[in-house]
Order: sequence, then C-alpha cells, then structure tokens
Amino acid sequence: MNGRVIGRVVALATAVAAPLGLGLATAPAASAAAVTTLYYSSSGAPDYLAQIDQGAANWNAAVTDVKLVKRNTSATIVFHEISSGGSYTNTNGHGRGQIYLDTSQVAEGFDPTRIAAHELGHNLGLPDHYSGPCTELMSGHGPGTACKNAKPSAAEAAKVQSLWVNGLVAAAESRAVAY
Ligand SMILES: [Zn+2]
Repeated sequence: MNGRVIGRVVALATAVAAPLGLGLATAPAASAAAVTTLYYSSSGAPDYLAQIDQGAANWNAAVTDVKLVKRNTSATIVFHEISSGGSYTNTNGHGRGQIYLDTSQVAEGFDPTRIAAHELGHNLGLPDHYSGPCTELMSGHGPGTACKNAKPSAAEAAKVQSLWVNGLVAAAESRAVAY
C-alpha cells in the first residue's frame, strides 16, 4: 500500500519535472529574450504604496525584458520615505538600489507616481535628463510641478529594453542620483 502510494507520487513528480527540464534546456536557444524579474519593496514608504505600484506597472506595461514585482522580503529595490532634501536613489543601475521619496517634494506639488517611476528608471539603468519634456520620465523635476506624466517615453522604454535584453549584466558601483 505504502509502496504504491510512493510510486504514484514519484511518477507525478517525474511527469511534472520533465516538461520543466525541457523548458530550461531549450530556453537559451530560443530567440525570445529571457525576462529578468526584479523585486521591489514599498513597505518603507507607506504613504505611497499605490503610487509605487502604479509606477512599477507603468514600466511593466512599457518593457518586456525586465519585470518589476512587489515583494517585501528579499527585494533588491527598496523604497523609503524621507521628509526633506529631495527624492533620490542610490543605485547601481542594474536592479539594485535604495529609493528615497521625499514627502516635502510631494507637498510642493511634484507627483509621487512620477517620482517613483523616475527613480525606478534609474534602477533600470537610465540617467537624468532634466532638460527633457514632460513626456520623458527622466526629465524629473525639470518640467515642474504641472508635469504629472508617470510613464516612460517610447525612447526611454526602448533604452531600458536594450539594457536588459541580455538579463542582469555585471553591476556598476552604486551612486546617488536625484529626482
Ligand atoms: Zn533622477
């Protein structure tokens, strides 16, 4: 009786494992790029949970090579709230960083979803471009408080897509960059 039950379990495990094994074996040869999943935590910025999720969703809607998923344990992108000095991130530009959202900057009128998406943009490898238009995320504070756009431009999305086409590449040193 026990032996038969175990036998069935093993058979099931084999049946499940075989397709997975084949999938792993064929993945490198496939022409489609692998998706890199990056985990972010937002519990350290409790006033902006919805805005952070929206900022991540905007990136997920724009690129396919890298995907942002919320997970409050073992995340490599970690959001925090601060109350002065301006929002910024300290990141390696390769999916690892600390993001600081400044409540006073939001009080001035800057859009928190745009700030969150902008700082995620740094973590995905994009530099600041303050002279850019509101349609760019990385123009940051440049277009002023009237700018509420929280979606990357087509060019920004294409740049991130190209940066992640080969997955998580060797990371550079972390550095601080502002909103
Ligand atoms: Zn910035």
